[in-house]
Amino acid sequence: MKRALFPGSFDPVTLGHVDIIHRALDLFDEIVIAVGTNTDKNYMFPLEKRLAFLEATFSPYKKIKVTTYSGLTINYAKEIEADFILRGLRNPADFEFEKAIAQTNRKLSGIETVFLLTSSGKSYISSSIVRDVYRHGGDISVLVPEEIVGML
Ligand code: ADP
Repeated sequence: MKRALFPGSFDPVTLGHVDIIHRALDLFDEIVIAVGTNTDKNYMFPLEKRLAFLEATFSPYKKIKVTTYSGLTINYAKEIEADFILRGLRNPADFEFEKAIAQTNRKLSGIETVFLLTSSGKSYISSSIVRDVYRHGGDISVLVPEEIVGML
């Protein structure tokens, strides 16, 4: 059983996240989407809403579980017996940032991080762009899953 942990802020979930997860479904038997709760970030949407968005988006998928965690991502990965950490790469800045974290995580735990490259047409989508558009009353329906449009 190949289990992957997909950790993130999901503030909110976007079509960029959905794209990575859909493509990863072919690679893993189970994907645990876990909302991290202990970063210093100021979130726009409270944890309960970020979880509800993910549940609304992925509830039809038996291979996908949605949860929260705190503490080190590798500790949580071990706790749930995940063999892999899944992350997406959009641009060189993502690569530089993710490289150091993935190498550290592998050194500390042996857990491999699997990266999927963003699909063409999705690389510009980020939660921060969605928050900016939403904050200023723009139409976010082309950036987020349709299941959450009415929930925002
Ligand atoms: P974090 O704060 O941990 O970066 P995010 O919710 O912003 O959490 O992102 C979670 C993961 O989803 C990251 O690996 C990020 O690179 C990936 N991701 C977000 N948007 C996209 C996108 N448009 N294409 C590919 N990967 C993406």
